[in-house]
Amino acid sequence: MAAKHFKYLILGGGVAAGYAAREFAKQGVKPGELAVISKEAVAPYERPALSKAYLFPQGTARLPGFHVCVGSGGERLLPEWYTEKGIELILSTEIVKADVASKTLTSASGAAFTYDILIIATGSTVIRLSDFGVQGADANNIFYLREIDDADKLVAAIQAKKNGKAVIVGGGYIGLELGAALRINNLDVTMVYPEPWCMPRLFTSGIAAFYEGYYAIKGIKIIKGTVAVGFDSNANGDVTAVKLKDGRVLDADIVVVGVGGRPLAALFKGQVVEEKGGIKTDGFFRTSVPGVYAVGDVATFPLKLYYEMRRVEHVDHARKSAEQAVKAIKASEEGKDIEEYDYLPYFYSRAFDLSWQFYGDNVGDTVLFGDNNPASAKPKFGSYWIKDGKVVGAFLEGGSAEENKAIAKVAKVQPPAGDLEQLTKEGLTFACKI
Ligand SMILES: Cc1cc2nc3c(=O)[nH]c(=O)nc-3n(C[C@H](O)[C@H](O)[C@H](O)COP(=O)(O)OP(=O)(O)OC[C@H]3O[C@@H](n4cnc5c(N)ncnc54)[C@H](O)[C@@H]3O)c2cc1C
Repeated sequence: MAAKHFKYLILGGGVAAGYAAREFAKQGVKPGELAVISKEAVAPYERPALSKAYLFPQGTARLPGFHVCVGSGGERLLPEWYTEKGIELILSTEIVKADVASKTLTSASGAAFTYDILIIATGSTVIRLSDFGVQGADANNIFYLREIDDADKLVAAIQAKKNGKAVIVGGGYIGLELGAALRINNLDVTMVYPEPWCMPRLFTSGIAAFYEGYYAIKGIKIIKGTVAVGFDSNANGDVTAVKLKDGRVLDADIVVVGVGGRPLAALFKGQVVEEKGGIKTDGFFRTSVPGVYAVGDVATFPLKLYYEMRRVEHVDHARKSAEQAVKAIKASEEGKDIEEYDYLPYFYSRAFDLSWQFYGDNVGDTVLFGDNNPASAKPKFGSYWIKDGKVVGAFLEGGSAEENKAIAKVAKVQPPAGDLEQLTKEGLTFACKI
């Protein structure tokens, strides 16, 4: 079979791929020049929706409602949009081999694609308990959440196990959002994680205490300091219980596992330089191989603000890195220069009626301010991180758009923190003055 050639090829059909396609269109890509190859059966969509409104009982968030770029207030790119622009969407196609020397990708069915310029946008995959050999971890109704197919299976299980028992393994982003979604669906929810508090990669103990308190009020049980070491299942192979390391056994009709992810860089192993588990790029998302770019979750890039190479697994960076790469590609074709990527880390999450945003870096000392009583009618609280006397990171729960803008500015400007007691007292006022 003859290889199909494209001037530009995007490998992956997720958030970064969608935003890159839009940027190519803005830059005047010609019909037939660009293709997006995706393992998924649908056009690029805003992945964060899968752990939020997609799982609500009313089931209102469905495609085509959340195709990119609605998540950032942009135009919704329906499959027809790609056709109109002459961009080929090659769906349900998994690439199993990449050869950067011959500029060729090969699919599972043996189709070959060649390119002049490649953007790697393969994102991450979930870490599975079966990867660690956890006994019984391949039972039915043990779910992971990364792609829309996973979400559809989970929705079907939620409907089949009405008022049943759910165990969430993991206390990170996915654990917290899924714990809330299953509770909203009236399941009896228990969360289990080994750390002393939830989301320790970002939350301080003070921040976490609020969310754990709030979840308890919503009827979610939390078991900390232990892990799932095995699962029981019935004659049909359906999970019935989760066995914990501390000896406890929890009945379960549904188990959701959120124990982290891993960037999908294996196809390029030994062909591009890697760093910190991802594909190393510069501030234009160029890899070590000319004509090959990497964006989104899979890229380890220079975070200029902190003089450090980082990998960021968040949607805002997926969008912005994709746009930066395409701008860089176009600029190099036209012999122009563009500014290096200058990213301010931004993460957010929503669960129940809660909504938080974080900007900057979570290093150094911290202060906690505001009303962090989980029983308050409208809690609003936050934290600052202080390093070398400067405020370098800011977190806010329950902020308005203006207030969130103010904490973003603090993280970018990095003003002197001054006296920490005074900073705690001032709280949000400090940010609003900057
Ligand atoms: C359930 C969930 C909720 C999230 N919620 C938030 C949130 O609230 N806030 C936040 O900031 N971030 C959130 N994230 C993270 C965010 O979605 C990711 O950082 C973002 O999607 C990364 O974009 P990407 O394009 O790099 O990867 P992805 O969006 O994962 O896209 C990768 C694409 O590549 C395809 N692919 C991979 N390998 C191959 C191959 N070999 N052949 C063909 N196709 C391939 C995949 O099928 C997929 O379509 C969430 C992630 C998940 C899974």
